[in-house]
Amino acid sequence: MTVTLADILAARRIIRGVADATPFVPSPFMAKAAGHDFLLKLENMQPVGAFKLRGALNAVAHLPEGVTGVTCCSTGNHGRGVAFAAKARGLRAVICMSELVPEAKVAGIRALGAEVRIVGRSQDAALAESRRLCVAEGLVEISPFDDPHVIAGQGTIGLEMLEARPDLAAILVPLSGGGLAAGVAVAAKAVNPGIRVIGVTMERGAAMHAALRAGHPVEVTEEPSLADSLGGGIGMENRLSFPLCQALLDEVVLVSEEEIRDAMQVLYHEDRIVAEGASVTGIAAMLSGRVTLPDGPVATIVTGRNLDMSVFTKVVAGEDVRIGDLVVRGKRYGA
Ligand SMILES: *Cc1c(COP(=O)(O)O)cnc(C)c1O
Repeated sequence: MTVTLADILAARRIIRGVADATPFVPSPFMAKAAGHDFLLKLENMQPVGAFKLRGALNAVAHLPEGVTGVTCCSTGNHGRGVAFAAKARGLRAVICMSELVPEAKVAGIRALGAEVRIVGRSQDAALAESRRLCVAEGLVEISPFDDPHVIAGQGTIGLEMLEARPDLAAILVPLSGGGLAAGVAVAAKAVNPGIRVIGVTMERGAAMHAALRAGHPVEVTEEPSLADSLGGGIGMENRLSFPLCQALLDEVVLVSEEEIRDAMQVLYHEDRIVAEGASVTGIAAMLSGRVTLPDGPVATIVTGRNLDMSVFTKVVAGEDVRIGDLVVRGKRYGA
């Protein structure tokens, strides 16, 4: 089982007019910092506030006849995508999440009419509940990243980027379970085999990074982070997103909480864009110099905007932010 360009082209027909054609804009400020064109694919403009709608719509479209309900574990954005896609098809949706998921994400899911189960303090606990519901209530699970239809759906982002800018030399992709990075890499490398696809994730609990180092999935401890959407493991029985990331990612880079904070500030103060921590890791890697970029135009995917506004306003105003037992110190922009 794998994901091909043909799967991504098919996904594109399914999501057309609902979850596609997000803006792809140059950032003059970031181009100056990068020394080359630097483009932002604005998936934060999706109707559910994150790219996950692409994969969820494609996965729900491929459900077998007779399915009456779906379930998933989620750090919030996949759940919201699944809730949206299920509602459009008149299906029941039960979204399982941990206590680490921000309130704004939970509210967004409830507003779409889905049922919410908050269980434990990790994605593993949420996944266990989702699996239990499959057996107990006859629901079908949709993995946030380890599912061929989800990966093909996320891959449509790569197609749109390469069609607009076939000259891209590299793409910086926020990385968690790797569904996004795998799909984007399949699409981008099918069009231009020489393009570099670089995954970027936070230092705190970087599961895919640890797995790639070990050569197999490993357990990581989940920790509070500004990049809450990147939390959780990749699944010890990962079948698809791990091997694809292993084969197709040129590099994986880690960024600190302070670098994520700085990137959120830059994106807001310079480009007036509201984005959650997970979605600015590519920008953080570029601005902090943690990644060596090739000689040519670079793009990153601003993956989502779903964060508690109290956190956002503190970050951009330069105040301290507390998330669980984590305190990210405030710093005034430009100071
Ligand atoms: C899910 C998510 C990611 C990471 O996607 P994966 O496919 O799990 O690697 C990045 N940013 C945001 C906002 C997300 O919701």
